[in-house]
Amino acid sequence: SLQERLQEAFKRLRGKGKLTESDVTEALREVRLALLEADVNFKVVKSFIARVKERAVGQEVLETLNPAQMVIKIVYEELVTLMGGANVGLTMADRPPTIIMLCGLQGAGKTTHAAKLALRLKKEGKKPLLVAADVYRPAAIKQLQVLGEQVGVPVYAEGDQVSPVDIAQRAFDYAAQERRDVIIVDTAGRLTIDEELMEELRQIKERLKPHDTLLVIDAMIGQDAVTTAEHFHGKLGIDGVILTKLDGDTRGGAALSVREVTGRPIKFVGVGEKLDALEPFHPDRMASRILGMGDVLTLIEKAQEQVDRKQAEEMTRKMLKAQFDFEDFLEQMRAMRRMGPLQDILKLLPGVGAQLKDINIDEKELKHIEAMILSMTPKERRNPDIINVRRRERIAKGSGRPIAEVHRLIKQFEQARKMMKQLGGLEKMMKRGGKMP
Ligand code: GDP
Ligand code: MG
Repeated sequence: SLQERLQEAFKRLRGKGKLTESDVTEALREVRLALLEADVNFKVVKSFIARVKERAVGQEVLETLNPAQMVIKIVYEELVTLMGGANVGLTMADRPPTIIMLCGLQGAGKTTHAAKLALRLKKEGKKPLLVAADVYRPAAIKQLQVLGEQVGVPVYAEGDQVSPVDIAQRAFDYAAQERRDVIIVDTAGRLTIDEELMEELRQIKERLKPHDTLLVIDAMIGQDAVTTAEHFHGKLGIDGVILTKLDGDTRGGAALSVREVTGRPIKFVGVGEKLDALEPFHPDRMASRILGMGDVLTLIEKAQEQVDRKQAEEMTRKMLKAQFDFEDFLEQMRAMRRMGPLQDILKLLPGVGAQLKDINIDEKELKHIEAMILSMTPKERRNPDIINVRRRERIAKGSGRPIAEVHRLIKQFEQARKMMKQLGGLEKMMKRGGKMP
């Protein structure tokens, strides 16, 4: 696997610090192969690798990762970003009907996916209408009618040799009359890109002004996906993509290519011939698939967890180091504020979270606490036990805070000190190998 190859490449490099140019170059050589094996277009691979390289060189290697894993992490993140980050759904009309037009080469899966979309929308409570605008083959109309029947969605069709533009127009009127709220137009394809067809699609698009013009593309065409996507997007303008036939062992490199050349999101993937074999597209899953590492997510999540955990442990150690007094208290509060909510950090340590629900420090409160602590004499700060009522009154006056607040601070401090003691026990426990006593 890619991971193994990278590990191999980095056997010598166990060091931490920043990623050097040669670390990155070496790792990216393997990534490049993986992408090409996944059928990503070579031009796309080239520009992608260049971008990753630029980002990776000089980056700090996370404490818990080795350089190889670090490069994978960056590659993975870039892949996810490149494919749009999150799932993008259909564009629905503000006022129905929503019009969806499918286009693509012959055999890509347009007719099948028209029916799949119809089924999905129907399950969501919509009332779709399928439109047979592929008039060149009588079999195509029949195919859509059969599929429409299977999913229980009406099909608008006229005979063959009627202009698809006119059919589309009349289908629109029919939908209004029948109160169908989504129109899905199945169009003709050709085996190769064809100017005449493109012109016809342009006319349908012009007439219907679809909310979503979706390019249906067969993931198995691999490298050719780029040419097809470029052409359809250039001549027709698409809003999104349905990537079909991902149920085989195709690695899905087409997803990356198509996204890169059109900049349009992949909205769905087809994962089988069955009519419910349609899934929303998820960039993170596709990135794992392209890299051929199902466990990449787990790896990265675990690394991140370890980083957070390590920070928390370090903080604990610091807290335990000195005699805990008001000066430490102030310093720790400031440090915690920089790191985010105290609870979030310490709850990473086993068994700690629950004790912290009462300690909550916000920005304003911290300023007040600071004022009170600064109104203590150094001796008081270092020996909190000597702060009697008289001293409390003086601290209240000095800081301009009510005496009740000074009481509360000292109580909080004592709580924290108690907690430190417990953490001390916890730390010993962790040193013994994490076993509960
Ligand atoms: P069109 O020419 O673009 O309308 O393509 P069709 O919808 O007629 O599909 C062509 C062939 O691909 C048919 O045999 C479909 O059953 C098959 N097909 C479509 N989508 C998928 C898919 O996601 N997975 C698999 N395995 N086959 C599919
Ligand atoms: Mg068809």
